Amino acid sequence: MMKHEFKAESKRLLEMMINSIYTQKEIFLRELISNASDAIDKIYYKALTDDSLVFDKDNYYIKITADKSARTLTISDTGIGMTEEDLESHLGVIAKSGSLAFKQENEAKEDHNIIGQFGVGFYSAFMVADTVTVISRALGADQAYKWESQGADGYTITPAEKATVGTEIILRIKENTEEDQYDEYLEEYRLRAIVKKYSDFIRYPIKMDVTKH
Ligand code: ADP
Ligand code: MG
Repeated sequence: MMKHEFKAESKRLLEMMINSIYTQKEIFLRELISNASDAIDKIYYKALTDDSLVFDKDNYYIKITADKSARTLTISDTGIGMTEEDLESHLGVIAKSGSLAFKQENEAKEDHNIIGQFGVGFYSAFMVADTVTVISRALGADQAYKWESQGADGYTITPAEKATVGTEIILRIKENTEEDQYDEYLEEYRLRAIVKKYSDFIRYPIKMDVTKH
């Protein structure tokens, strides 16, 4: 299977995320929820001008699933999804808006301020996960694709199975170390608190499903 390389700028940001230079690792969830919400917005706006699309509010939501024994945290959405090309162009390169703001702020301010003010985006998932898997099926597509990365040495994209349109982001949560605690990102009370703190304004329902063991 061919491994794609990240672009140089993306790779640098990714390395920072992997080495978790930030104290507020919890913001990864805000970033993934905000992307999920943006993806649902895209269907919503498309439906305004496309008569063949009906936006039935009940079908659009974000779901957070934690599985403690598998050590996975999954953020799924019923948004517009990504094609194979989207996975390549959107997740292989850090988004312009985010990276520019990041670089400018990085020169002037302390890291927690950057995090507070600007979205650092998808790659923030690597602050808490050693493997990130994205399974996505784009609106109008029959075939789904899987993007997977274990960090700076690249990513793979392969065909995958997905019954419905939307995206699933599966995080393999890192093991605890002496300095850093990651188990908490599989705990329902903790996840609820993070959602409340950063994502209270999201206009789609955020469902939660956490295994007890
Ligand atoms: P930004 O949100 O600032 O564009 P991100 O790094 O957070 O930057 O995300 C990069 C891009 O990846 C998004 O702009 C979007 O095109 C795509 N993307 C990320 N998550 C999703 C998702 N859940 N559904 C659809 N597209 C997504
Ligand atoms: Mg984003």
